[in-house]
Amino acid sequence: MQFENDYKEYIPTPIQRLSENLNENDFYIKREDLFPISFGGNKARKALIFFEDALSKNADYVVTYGSSSSNHCRVISNLAAAKGLRCVVISPIEKNKTTYNSLMMKLFNSEIIYCQISEVKNTIEKKMSELKNLGYNPYFIQGGGHGNLGTKAYVDVYNEIKNYEKNKGVYFDYIFHASGTGTTQAGLVCGSIIHGDNRKIIGISIARRNPYGEQIVLSSVNEYLKSIGVNCITNESIEFIDDYVLDGYEMYNKNILMTIKEVLTKDGIPMDTTYTGKAFWGMKEYIKKNNIRGKNILFIHTGGTPLFFDKIGELFL
Ligand SMILES: *Cc1c(COP(=O)(O)O)cnc(C)c1O
Repeated sequence: MQFENDYKEYIPTPIQRLSENLNENDFYIKREDLFPISFGGNKARKALIFFEDALSKNADYVVTYGSSSSNHCRVISNLAAAKGLRCVVISPIEKNKTTYNSLMMKLFNSEIIYCQISEVKNTIEKKMSELKNLGYNPYFIQGGGHGNLGTKAYVDVYNEIKNYEKNKGVYFDYIFHASGTGTTQAGLVCGSIIHGDNRKIIGISIARRNPYGEQIVLSSVNEYLKSIGVNCITNESIEFIDDYVLDGYEMYNKNILMTIKEVLTKDGIPMDTTYTGKAFWGMKEYIKKNNIRGKNILFIHTGGTPLFFDKIGELFL
């Protein structure tokens, strides 16, 4: 897999129209799920930047963490195997189950270390120092590809959206997407600040509640802005919506399944119950609740295609 310097050749990802027309809005979707490495998605987009950094520092090991259903851990395992780096995934034992992502982590020969959720931090520190003592040069990547490099990936995406608008003569009044660790949202918000735009960027939380969720996005935004010498912002500019998390991470309902089935049937685009399907459903609820009409709306498909297959049996409602 060649990607050290030429990953920019893989972008932009396509933007296409959707058949959805709720409240006479025009819906578009940016297909980050088609980002052409390891089933795509925002984790692949972020991971290329982390690997570029890791390789420039001559890393021979990558260490990261996430659950057995983590898209991030699958992508990191895949890229590590492609580049001949060893990979360790620290994973909470409470959330251990066999998924297409966990199968792929094993296929790519990642070493999986299970521990209690409360022990994740200690386990990472222990493993990092153990590897250093053995003479390796390990590179740590935060869960979900969180951090300034991950944020940068979505500043790049914001720039792609701007270019699309310029070329097609369209303006997106709203950008919606699934928000987890908040890095994707932070990158998009930073992009809009850098360009001086004031459109709405709405992260539909898939797990976290406010004020915590919003604060993490805000601190990621300000950490990135600081790194490029731009003034910090306050939290009024962060729209992190926690109305649709249900009972938390990986929780979904029948309406989400129906939404997924409808988008797949009408537009041929797969979504999953944890992230994109939940966020697309949440977006529609938000549009109804706030009576948004006649706008151009862009939904960012953040990937997670293996998760679609984990739950395909549930779609037979
Ligand atoms: C991780 C993930 C998200 C959330 O992205 P964050 O940058 O962590 O907010 C959204 N969608 C999919 C498919 C993901 O895997």
